[in-house]
Amino acid sequence: MVNKMSTSSNVETSKPVGPDDYLLPIGNPRITAIWRALETVTDPEIPVISVVDMGIIADVRVEDRRVAVDMTPTFVGCPALDMIRENIALAVRAAGEVEVIVNVVFDPPWSSDRITEAGRRKLKAFGLAPPVRACGPASVAPSLERIECPYCDSTNTDVESIFGPTLCRSIHYCRNCLQSFEHFKPV
Ligand SMILES: [Zn+2]
Repeated sequence: MVNKMSTSSNVETSKPVGPDDYLLPIGNPRITAIWRALETVTDPEIPVISVVDMGIIADVRVEDRRVAVDMTPTFVGCPALDMIRENIALAVRAAGEVEVIVNVVFDPPWSSDRITEAGRRKLKAFGLAPPVRACGPASVAPSLERIECPYCDSTNTDVESIFGPTLCRSIHYCRNCLQSFEHFKPV
């Protein structure tokens, strides 16, 4: 059974962000507590924002003593995946739950459009350019040219390396403020 949860305006970090329904709990304190716990979990490769802000939590369901968390991973085969699953389970147990199952699902598929607005702001504050939004399901891969510099907002930037410290990032150079910065690649 899937809990259909409506969006809540008082949880800023969990607003819907894209074409996918981003479902948030309302009126169920237990599910709310689980989402709060999930907000403390980060992707080890992108430690500045939570898995909630990353939009990788697809669903949270509770049934009797059991909790099921569905996560839709950012990258298939990402070596951090097992660690994220483990950290999710630990955080939910720390919130008082006993039986916790973390499912990896690919429907809905993760896309960078699932990152919350708060997540985008935090990425930018970290000097990591937020991913360019994809424009519709049939769009071609967004260009990595002219990525906006997170320091000065200039788009007078060059691609320095397609692959940054992780496969998820590229490195760019800003010709305006002469700084290198990383960009979280859209998928
Ligand atoms: Zn700049």
